[in-house]
Amino acid sequence: MIINVLQARKAIGNEQTFEFITSAGQLAIEGETPWKSSVIIVEGKLINNGRVIAVNGIISATAKYQCSCCLEDFTANMEIPFSDNYQQTNDEPIESEADLTYYTGDEIDIADLMRESLILAEPLKSVCSENCRGLCPHCGINLNTAQCSCQDKLVDPRLAVLQKLLK
Ligand SMILES: [Zn+2]
Ligand SMILES: [Zn+2]
Repeated sequence: MIINVLQARKAIGNEQTFEFITSAGQLAIEGETPWKSSVIIVEGKLINNGRVIAVNGIISATAKYQCSCCLEDFTANMEIPFSDNYQQTNDEPIESEADLTYYTGDEIDIADLMRESLILAEPLKSVCSENCRGLCPHCGINLNTAQCSCQDKLVDPRLAVLQKLLK
């Protein structure tokens, strides 16, 4: 994911847009990532800010998750913003700049930035919907799509004692 910034470097304020189509495989982040089978589209813009080349844009991908509540698979379209500043190693170093990546020559490689942005966007817990009803703790049926009668059969133990006494 290399961008030639020769043109942008010529004058302060020079802008350039870029677009890449990639995949988790190409980025070597396959593993258990939710982007495994998705096309990953990267669209962005860079601008020569004088001291650095500022890069920003959006990654679009379809994530595939298993709901941690009902265990069904579901997909979610993700739009992940990214940004970073690139400084050429030959230039005077900037002190205490928070987001700064170095590059040599006229080419910047945004692959690391893409990996980092995708990994940070992975939720720790994924639920198919805010209203997911999960699985019945007794029979394991998916309560989003079916109903069971477990709840009716469960009798409060105190009531059970009373029922016995009444007999
Ligand atoms: Zn669910
Ligand atoms: Zn049940």
